[in-house]
Amino acid sequence: MRPFIVAGNWKMNKTLEEGKALVREVLARFDQPPYGLVVFAVPFPLLQAVGALLSERPGFSLAAQNCHHEEKGAYTGEVSVDMLASVGAKYVIIGHSERRQYFRESHEQLARKVNLALSRGLTPIFCCGEPLSVRERNNHVSYVARQLRASLFHLSEADMCRVVIAYEPVWAIGTGKTATADQAQEMHAALRTLLARRYSPNTAQLIPILYGGSCNAQNAPDLFQQPDVDGGLIGGASLKAEEFSAIIRAMRF
Ligand code: PEP
Repeated sequence: MRPFIVAGNWKMNKTLEEGKALVREVLARFDQPPYGLVVFAVPFPLLQAVGALLSERPGFSLAAQNCHHEEKGAYTGEVSVDMLASVGAKYVIIGHSERRQYFRESHEQLARKVNLALSRGLTPIFCCGEPLSVRERNNHVSYVARQLRASLFHLSEADMCRVVIAYEPVWAIGTGKTATADQAQEMHAALRTLLARRYSPNTAQLIPILYGGSCNAQNAPDLFQQPDVDGGLIGGASLKAEEFSAIIRAMRF
């Protein structure tokens, strides 16, 4: 069975003290481990401190929001997968639409990041999703299929089973405009069909596919009830302890 995952992507928000306070507030709301897995994807300078807060808490884990596509070297200001692993990150978001858009990250760079993350034992949370113009032309499935083919489908079946996919329609990220539960289910089912064709039906069933895009405490229960939605990648709503905790509680059993 694939795991159910709720991951909070803080983006460029929270100082060290603010971040620790938020994590403490979320943890305080859970006496028992959550039903699925909760991941905090925090800015680089907060990784170690947040990791320390999560270390004794089963069901809670730590992610980075990006990594560089080279192993090491003269890349001022960049962060390598080895550095992330050394401070306790278990997951790394790769290919977020903001990275693709503002930092012009290419399919090829993303493929290299995925390879490097897997080689160091980190789980990539690989983001894909179509802009509004593509959705309006009804080309969303083929657009996202291309993103997967270009950056993931070179992987062996064993490596593919170690990847988490996040479907995030670009028009829904940070806009307050969520995909309907039906739109999310349609795309997630289409992604699973692609995985089944490229790998095998069994592998397709093992890979978690998260939904992201203005997911909040109100719409999470509906989205999470969809059979191919295995959790959420949550931006804005992960910055408030009460709301993020409500989304965690909406995990499907
Ligand atoms: C995201 O950044 O991955 C995201 C889904 O953001 P938001 O929830 O704010 O739309």
